[in-house]
Amino acid sequence: MTSQSGYSVFHETMADMTYPEIERAAADGAAVLWALGVIEQHGPHLPLGTDVYIPSAVLRAARHALAAKGIPSVIAPPFYWGVNHVTGTFAGSFVVRPETMLELLKDVFASLAKDGFRRVFCLSGHGDALHNRTLFEGVRRAQGIDVRMVASEALARRLGLDPADAKIALTPPVAAPKPPALHLDIHAGEWETSILLEETPAIVHAELLPQLASTRLGPGDLAEWRKGLDNAKRVTPQGYFGNPAAADATLGAKLVELEGQAVAQAVADALRKAP
Ligand SMILES: [Zn+2]
Repeated sequence: MTSQSGYSVFHETMADMTYPEIERAAADGAAVLWALGVIEQHGPHLPLGTDVYIPSAVLRAARHALAAKGIPSVIAPPFYWGVNHVTGTFAGSFVVRPETMLELLKDVFASLAKDGFRRVFCLSGHGDALHNRTLFEGVRRAQGIDVRMVASEALARRLGLDPADAKIALTPPVAAPKPPALHLDIHAGEWETSILLEETPAIVHAELLPQLASTRLGPGDLAEWRKGLDNAKRVTPQGYFGNPAAADATLGAKLVELEGQAVAQAVADALRKAP
């Protein structure tokens, strides 16, 4: 049951555990799972914290899937001061410099190493290329602890990274839960809204959904949108890119389950190959 329990981003994370429980988890060789999102506009209907709620839900599903494989893990409290280039001109999108994010990553990895954890798997909840490049740079620089970025082949290629890079824990392709829509669904559209309807229904403005027309945008619009700031605002004046009116909670539950299984597989594969 995630609908109510998932409302706290600390739910099932280290933040809700005690220090002796953390000591035991580290001694058991638990892998640390970490969601890294951002506080960013998500249309008139979704909360700014959407990119934190979604990877948090996916990591809870991944943790359960790992436990079923006999692999212990803990979830670090989510990171949400990520980099907003694309939607940075909208109200509510906090603008954090990459160097600020990098310094914080360094300190968190050092803290986890100090506590005896040996492996960390970072899952981004935010599609912005600069955010993800900054995350990967932090992963690459981590010292005294084995840190990987969980990523799909498509994300790795979009960032200009080699999917076979040892610092990437590659997710297997995720089966689409339904046939692809006619238009792109990128931001605060059908799939993100579906997940929030499942995970945090109390903070979704569902009453607005019928009024939000599909943006009907394609790859050319996406390229323009990714140039960011005022370009993004021109392409999506209401902030969403996709079809939020098509959202439903059942699809959201399925997406979280499928993504969670993919992340668990990526972690299990990386641990099997690790020295
Ligand atoms: Zn998002």
